[in-house]
Amino acid sequence: MAVWGVFAALRAAPRLWRRASRAAAGFRGTFFGRGYSVDPAQVRATQSPPTFGFLLDIDGVLVRGHQVIPAALEAFRRLLDARGQLRVPVVFVTNAGNISQHDKAKELSTLLGFKVEPDQIVLSHSPLKLFFQHHGKRMLVTGQGPLVENARALGFENVVTVDELRLAFPVLDMVDLQRRPKTTPHLRTDFPAIEGKGVSLGVGGSGVLLLGEPVRWETSLQLIMDVLLSNGNPGTVLATVPYPHLPVLASNMDLLWMAEAKMPRFGHGTFLLCLEAIYRKLTGRELRYCGLTGKPSLLTYRYAEELIQRQAVKRGWAVPIQKLYTVGDNPMSDVYGANLFHQHLQAAQQGGMESPLDAHSCTSILVGTGVYSPAAPGPVEQPPFHGHRDFGLSPGLLEAAHVVNDVDEAVRLVLRQEGWA
Ligand SMILES: [Mg+2]
Repeated sequence: MAVWGVFAALRAAPRLWRRASRAAAGFRGTFFGRGYSVDPAQVRATQSPPTFGFLLDIDGVLVRGHQVIPAALEAFRRLLDARGQLRVPVVFVTNAGNISQHDKAKELSTLLGFKVEPDQIVLSHSPLKLFFQHHGKRMLVTGQGPLVENARALGFENVVTVDELRLAFPVLDMVDLQRRPKTTPHLRTDFPAIEGKGVSLGVGGSGVLLLGEPVRWETSLQLIMDVLLSNGNPGTVLATVPYPHLPVLASNMDLLWMAEAKMPRFGHGTFLLCLEAIYRKLTGRELRYCGLTGKPSLLTYRYAEELIQRQAVKRGWAVPIQKLYTVGDNPMSDVYGANLFHQHLQAAQQGGMESPLDAHSCTSILVGTGVYSPAAPGPVEQPPFHGHRDFGLSPGLLEAAHVVNDVDEAVRLVLRQEGWA
């Protein structure tokens, strides 16, 4: 799926962005169901409103596993005022997804020592809130953590987990000898989540929702393939492979991410790579996504930009916030995504396309505390492409506007540039 395909799939999205513009103009309105209003006294009290904001990655920039990176504490000492409130709008944009927005905010608050609000968090799947056309469908959901709760929070009302599917169809999951049925089980035909009212996963609107890396990959890979190849009727076999297949929505395409270990760990992008390879090998066709969210997708940056403008309105600052600075550790997701968004904003400014966005620029800053390491020997040849299949390699987009040691240096650089230091 081309990057622009994300927008094509979202007919409803522009309405939301225009709504933000109304908010920026001082209208009372709603965003994702929440009310807001501008307090004029708060506006008057603001002497020097920011015209810029930060989109901060979390893993490898602010934290490594459960450890806060010391530079992050320094950075926020600069960004907080005497009352412990942010001096500029900040949104945390992470490709993590196996956690709720609320819990991520709580976790960050503890690590960083100030109150982070859930509406400052963009998880990899947050933009799936905008895929209204799939919310009422029966979706097989994969990932871990509060999976069903996350799916419901995004608007998906009717989800079936891999575990539920496995229990309903016990002869499908056969890789692990210990989990194979010991006797031939009775084949059920009455599993309501799949066959209820004659509505299978495939008939009447169904699909697959990939929210993050699952555990027991072999089980998820097998059952997702069963659902796709059977058009939502796992346990049956069709004479021909259904194609186009059921809608597939996925979030977080990071091949790797950085935790405490010295070397990067598998991310959800590695799981997707396996799924795409298996689908292509078995069918001779390409697995297609009707939605792919998380960095570097433009949709994620559009969503984050919306939250920045909302935050500025909430704080009584002048809007729109025109300049965005992104700080990340992963060239393929953070730098590529920020540069892609910058291109999009520039094209919109030059009148090349209709855009209801308010920001004018998005500057990429790469730090060396995570996936990217300035200490590592530089590649002598073209490095392997770690991006997702659908994003293609555009080497220019991997070049950060600034490369610094850590997030504190990034914040100092921006504050200096903006005349705030
Ligand atoms: Mg990161």
